[in-house]
Amino acid sequence: MQLNYIANASIPSSSGRTIAVLDPSDGQPFEHIQRSNASDIDSAVRAARQGLDTVWHKFSAVERGRLLMRLSQKITEHAQELSQIEQRDCGKPTRQANADALALARYFEFYSGACDKLHGETIPYLDGYSVLTWREPHGVTGHIIPWNYPMQIFGRSVGGALAAGNTCVVKPAEDACLSLIRVAQLAAEVGFPAGVLNIVTGYGHEVGDALARHPGIDHISFTGSPSVGTLIQQAAALRHCPVTLELGGKSPQIVFADADLDAAVPAILNGIVQNAGQTCSAGSRLLVEQSIYEPLLARLGAEFENLRVGPADMDLDLGPLIRQSQQQRVWDFLSDAQVAGIPMVAQGRVVDEAPQSGFYQAPTLLRDVPFDHRLAQEEVFGPVLCAMPFKDEDQAVTLANSTEFGLVAGVWTRDGARQFRMARRIRSGQIFINNYGAGGGVELPFGGVKSSGYGREKGFEALLGFTTLKTVAIRHG
Ligand code: NAD
Repeated sequence: MQLNYIANASIPSSSGRTIAVLDPSDGQPFEHIQRSNASDIDSAVRAARQGLDTVWHKFSAVERGRLLMRLSQKITEHAQELSQIEQRDCGKPTRQANADALALARYFEFYSGACDKLHGETIPYLDGYSVLTWREPHGVTGHIIPWNYPMQIFGRSVGGALAAGNTCVVKPAEDACLSLIRVAQLAAEVGFPAGVLNIVTGYGHEVGDALARHPGIDHISFTGSPSVGTLIQQAAALRHCPVTLELGGKSPQIVFADADLDAAVPAILNGIVQNAGQTCSAGSRLLVEQSIYEPLLARLGAEFENLRVGPADMDLDLGPLIRQSQQQRVWDFLSDAQVAGIPMVAQGRVVDEAPQSGFYQAPTLLRDVPFDHRLAQEEVFGPVLCAMPFKDEDQAVTLANSTEFGLVAGVWTRDGARQFRMARRIRSGQIFINNYGAGGGVELPFGGVKSSGYGREKGFEALLGFTTLKTVAIRHG
């Protein structure tokens, strides 16, 4: 039985209720978490406020940085343990779970070094005045985390908030919170004072909602679906609480005829297969210049047929989806495709060893998907790639910009001038040219436009979002 972690202590919810945690690889319960309520959130926010006011605000930037570095090192020492926890919780293939644990350590490493580089400015003003700006923490920040990359999203969101001097209350997703409870324990072990990092588990509509409404929360970082993002904004608006929203995407991979296909094909494949397509930045739309449409689909089709799906610990190309309702969601999209007569190019295979009770879905490549069909407009959040041809650059831009989202775009072309034109014309938070998010990008600001959200996390830019600017004007003679 897993407990909440508040003020460096493991505490049961005052509700006395729990939620069963299922292993997506076999659909069976293997653990229980707390089904917390508003009163647990209140305890965590009070603990965070006390931690901030009594201890954390006295830490200098360099001391905060050293503590974050100790946590990074501790996470690295426990990387295998954390990876195994998250693998079972989320159904991630071993390589993906390992990469996520190392990314978590890297976030704390990056933000440890950033703490004492964050500073304000002096501003020339009237004679006899000195004006300066201070970057101050918001205070107590709330973090609502989705289930697809718990460790990575915790690292980028909480890492930045702590580096900027905030204390944090974290609400992980009900489907995947085990690794984060363990990280909070490790933080206490390396010396994080009580109240600086608190974890409260439970359902979004109960405990997430209570966090978003709590008057003691000074800033909310929300990563999740656009519809819940709207609810968060509404709750925050009632008390003018600032919000960072990292929402969904329907990201295009745009391939011109002059592209280096040897580089593009593996990146296109990985962009939709990674984490079984349950990735906000999944490259789920494939826009291909007409003249290479058929050969590229033939090549990708062969790759799709070789893909294997199975239990997380078999470490195949894909693990299961997170839960049955997610599996059903993907099935619904695929049956809509069938009804609309959208042709399937190829499908991978679920291996025989995969238990019937697990939440598996074979990766699927569809072609000639009309740009306005829901398959080309909505986030499937599963391993389904939708291909469509374009005739020229203008049409590629129109198609790329034709959804409500604007998170990531991949552009594949050797033409340098076109690279810049495309980067300018596509409405998106990130443009990757001749790559698709290689290297993890801890250092790179990340976020969306349109329904993909606003505000930026990752990189140094995140620290600006996790602080507020105070202007101090002094008249001295
Ligand atoms: P979700 O919106 O259902 O849940 C996200 C979190 O919000 C969970 O912790 C959930 O418990 C909580 N929540 C749910 N209802 C709530 C409410 N009424 N009030 C407060 N909190 C509530 O999303 P999900 O299904 O967990 O995650 C998938 C979505 O997240 C996709 O849309 C994906 O694109 C997006 N995502 C975006 C990014 C990014 O960086 N842009 C990263 C990962 C995931």
